[in-house]
Parts: sequence; structure tokens; C-alpha cells
Amino acid sequence: MQQYIDSYDFAGKKAIVRVDFNVPLNENFEITDDTRIRAAIPTLKKVLEKGGALIIMSHLGRPKGVDAKFSLKHIVDHVSEKLGVPVQFAPDCQKADEMAAALKPGQALLLENLRFYAEEEGKPRGLKEDATDEEKKAAKAAVKESQKAFTAKLASYADCYINDAFGTAHRAHASTALIAKYFPNDKMFGYLMEGEIKAIDNVLKNAERPLTAIIGGSKVSSKLAVLKNLVGKVDNLIIGGGMGYTFIKAQGGQIGLSLHEDDLIPDALAILEAAREKGVKVCIAQDAVCTQEFSNEARTEVFPSTAIPADWEGVDAGPETLKGWKGVIDSSKTILWNGPVGVFEIPKFANGTLTVAKDLAEVTAKGAYTLVGGGDSVAAVTKMGFAQKVSYVSTGGGAMLEAIEGKELPGIAAIRE
Ligand code: AMP
Repeated sequence: MQQYIDSYDFAGKKAIVRVDFNVPLNENFEITDDTRIRAAIPTLKKVLEKGGALIIMSHLGRPKGVDAKFSLKHIVDHVSEKLGVPVQFAPDCQKADEMAAALKPGQALLLENLRFYAEEEGKPRGLKEDATDEEKKAAKAAVKESQKAFTAKLASYADCYINDAFGTAHRAHASTALIAKYFPNDKMFGYLMEGEIKAIDNVLKNAERPLTAIIGGSKVSSKLAVLKNLVGKVDNLIIGGGMGYTFIKAQGGQIGLSLHEDDLIPDALAILEAAREKGVKVCIAQDAVCTQEFSNEARTEVFPSTAIPADWEGVDAGPETLKGWKGVIDSSKTILWNGPVGVFEIPKFANGTLTVAKDLAEVTAKGAYTLVGGGDSVAAVTKMGFAQKVSYVSTGGGAMLEAIEGKELPGIAAIRE
């Protein structure tokens, strides 16, 4: 049965908490962005305040085995500072029995990178390149088998389990999902997870209408499942960025050298057809800021997005498009935004993405619910200074994307089951 942090009695108990401390480090192993650490602190502090002790676990990067470069020892001091108590460090997540047993209420222990063990992900490592299918199957079975003991060991350290790692909620790993079954009556979400789940539900389950999704980014292929799911849920679907050109070409437009995927034209047409059937308004760029050169010094011109000259490429939404989108955004009560609507990394092509961010901030101030989630759109609103001006900015790129594809995330299901 699922428990809740606010009502759970942590006094004298040890909580094992899966967090996402997968923070970027520079060459001197200094943290360059501690957002993910700060995001987990409210949950960690709450356990300590309520008289519990913490066993904190996370992954860092993608090590292939034990590798000092990916050691969580680099972040111990920073976590201690943010948490306000000295955090102990267990240099092997599978040999922390004594340190865990010795923890007193109010104390905290950070386990070494879970991914030093293949069992965390349950994927075999070190397979020969020419391994046969049989060998691959046997290796997979072996790691799945040893994953049970790995998970049981982590579970043995604690009395209750908290998952606050939304960034890995779409993975059925030992620490994100499998461990939950060892705590059938003592498992719960952390505050960050609760916030993310609520944000997703606000859009996908309990949205106030009209509901609009703005989906941008480079390729249709990476957002196909998102578009297919959303077309059955939203009132308006704004398709922007590089992926818009596949839709324009599918409808007979001349898109010059703009990014597109010919093999996805049938899918694009199917999405447009589904939208027509369901009465969903689809908004695709009418005009495009185009260039012949991918640089900030490039000359740009605005063309109708269905008549881009053969040697020009669309890199941002044009002024007419942005005006039209603003009208749709202004009339919406709930908006989901995923993916930039232009090549926002180059300032000269960032106007469209900046304008959408501003429009979202404005409509949020008027009472609409706005969720920005999944990868580059989060980077864009943060870089442009709008993160505080929308209702919610998701911390989980891949996890948020899978959630808006309509999938049940293993990390969420494991707590709710
Ligand atoms: P994604 O990872 O699919 O969300 O895509 C993000 C990327 O899409 C960013 O790096 C943008 O520069 C890129 N992008 C957005 N619009 C365009 C465009 N019109 N042409 C090429 N790339 C684009």
C-alpha cells in the first residue's frame, strides 16, 4: 500500500531514498549545475526532521563498471552543505550493512554510484561484439538473476523506501522500481515525484479546457508516440520546430533544405487525419525564418513555409506564425510545451522559442496552467529566464516524454501497485 511522506511516521526508522543526483561535473569534479540535488532536498530534510535516518542512493553518468570518474564521493560535501548535516559515504553500495545499521535518527549516508554494478540496470556488460543471440540471452538471464540479490541487499538497509528520482522513473531498474516490492506497506513518492506526477495529471487527466500542446524539436521520429497520444487528448496541437517541415511537405509544401523525414510522411498524414476526425485544431507554421547558413551572422529571410526556395532552410517560426500561435495560447486554460520551435541555440534563430516562452509566461499570469517538460524546451525556458514564470518545469526529460506518450512509468507503478 502506498504511503505518503507527510503522514508516514519516520521516527526511529531508516529510509532508503532513490534520488537523481546525476549532476554535471567539470574536469575538476566540481558540480556545474546542482538543480537535481536541490530538487531532492525537501524530501530528504523532511525524513530527518521527522526523526528518521537517510540512506541516499543514486546513479551518476553511465559507467561501465567501477570508475572513479563517476564516483558520488565528488558530491558528498555539496550534499552535506545543502542538507545541513554531514553526510557519510559508503564506497560500495553493496557493502554498506554496517554503516547503515549504525545510522542514528537525523543522520545520513550516501551510497556509491549504483551503476558501478550492472545489476542496477539489469543489463549485461562486457559482451563480446560477436556474441551470438544465445550468448546474449544467457548473459541477460544471468544479470537478471543476480539483480535479485543486488536489490535485496539495498532493501535490507532500510525500513521504508522513497522514490524521488523522477529523471529515472521511466526505467525499471533495481533502485527505481524493483526494490519497492520489499516494502509493500512502507513505500512512497518523494515531494519531487509527487510534484511531477501532479503536473502530468493536471495536463493529461484533469486539464481545464481548452488544452493545447506545443510540440517542437528536431524530428517527428522522436516525438511520434507523443503526437499520437496527444492528438486524442488535446483541443489544439501546435507543431513547431524542425519536425513541422515533415508535416508541411506531407501536405505538398515546398520546404527547400529544411529538416524533414520522408519516411515519416505517412505517419504525419495519419496524425493530421486523426486530428480532423477528433476535431483537434492543428497549427503548423505558416511562415518561416530561413537561412542559407547555420550561424549567428547568417542572412535570414522570411518565406511562406510552403514556398521555401530550394537552397534555403527554415530555422525558426516566422512572425505570422507566432501571431497565430499566440492567439491559440491566449485562449487556452492548460498548455503543455515540449521542444523548441526553432534552432534556439543560435541567438539569431531563437526568437520563436523566446516568444513562445513569453506567451506562456503571460497566459500563466492570467491563470492558465502551463507545464514545460522534456529536454530542450526546459533548457530554453531556463536559459531565457522564464522558468519561474510558468506553472511547472519538469526535471525529467525522458521520463516526462514517456509520460506524455501515455505510458505508465515503472517507477510510478511500483509505488502505486
Ligand atoms: P528535440 O531534442 O527533438 O527536442 O530537438 C531539439 C532540437 O531541435 C534543438 O537542438 C533545436 O535546435 C532543434 N530544432 C528546432 N527547430 C529546428 C529547425 N527548424 N531545424 C533544425 N533543427 C531544429
